[in-house]
Amino acid sequence: MEERLKELKAEALDKVDQAVNLKELNEIRVAYLGKKGPITEVLRGMGKLSAEERPKMGALANEVREIISKRIEAKQSELEEAAVLEKIAAETIDVTLPGRPVKAGNHHPLTKVIEEIEDLFIGMGYEIVEGPEVETDYFNFEALNLPKSHPARDMQDSFYITDEILLRTQTSPVQARTMQKHQGKGPIKIICPGKVYRRDNDDATHSHQFMQIEGLVVGENIRMSDLKGTLDTFAKKLFGEDREIRLRPSFFPFTEPSVEMDISCKICGGTGCSICKGTGWIEILGAGMVHPNVLEMSGYDSKKYTGFAFGMGPERIAMLKYGIDDIRHFYTDDVRFLKQFSKHE
Ligand SMILES: [Zn+2]
Repeated sequence: MEERLKELKAEALDKVDQAVNLKELNEIRVAYLGKKGPITEVLRGMGKLSAEERPKMGALANEVREIISKRIEAKQSELEEAAVLEKIAAETIDVTLPGRPVKAGNHHPLTKVIEEIEDLFIGMGYEIVEGPEVETDYFNFEALNLPKSHPARDMQDSFYITDEILLRTQTSPVQARTMQKHQGKGPIKIICPGKVYRRDNDDATHSHQFMQIEGLVVGENIRMSDLKGTLDTFAKKLFGEDREIRLRPSFFPFTEPSVEMDISCKICGGTGCSICKGTGWIEILGAGMVHPNVLEMSGYDSKKYTGFAFGMGPERIAMLKYGIDDIRHFYTDDVRFLKQFSKHE
């Protein structure tokens, strides 16, 4: 019996050593250590042994089991480790392979222009303020010195939701709202970008929806020269240091005096060409000193406070900056058009 156990031990250890995977190893475990295995079989024959021999044989059988079991455990760790290493080797990334190209979008040209203008004014100490696109008649017109009967309302016919609620025709109501929030106390220095709506027929230069950026400064001793200096800095930073500006008298109900600002034509340098229609100047924006009525209506003492405001169309600026000939390009989402601006990122 002792011989048989030693034989089994040698046989089992030999098989364990030769096992190549975990499945095989498990089969060996079941075959030798299982209840139907040869060791159990040998132990069954112990009844035939003498009382002295029995415990000796029992101890030997347990020792054999123990040895086989330990060897199996060791082999198992070895095989498991090998399996992990093999997996890692199989999953190695070949860093020398060229990457797959990622299709990236780019900012819309209007977003680019608006962000550039915002950055410019933030640099001059302005704050960005936004307001609702669905606006009341009061904030869109009346608070801006445009009472119900005012003829200038005809130029800004809107989409009405009710008699008193409409899609805003300008971003100026954000100015009125901001002034009222300040309750008659200055200073205010804001830029208001956003979408506005007018009942216009769409053509190369008109769109029923477009963007506006307005600026408002209210404080003590704000003068026309401050407005001119601000616009001059803005024009030079956005279009180039060599650009000149000129102010022409104009009319807006909410400013007095009012001006239109032109910049010198870059193409001809001021001598006149087809782009500037032979004048040497290109119209950029409207501006003026805030009308005392507008200040008073928003709770400001117009004897103590003065201010200036300006408003521009990012579409027009983008058209001039990038040489775009039709405003509708901005709103028709033609990828061929939009893709051209990726190189300006
Ligand atoms: Zn020109």
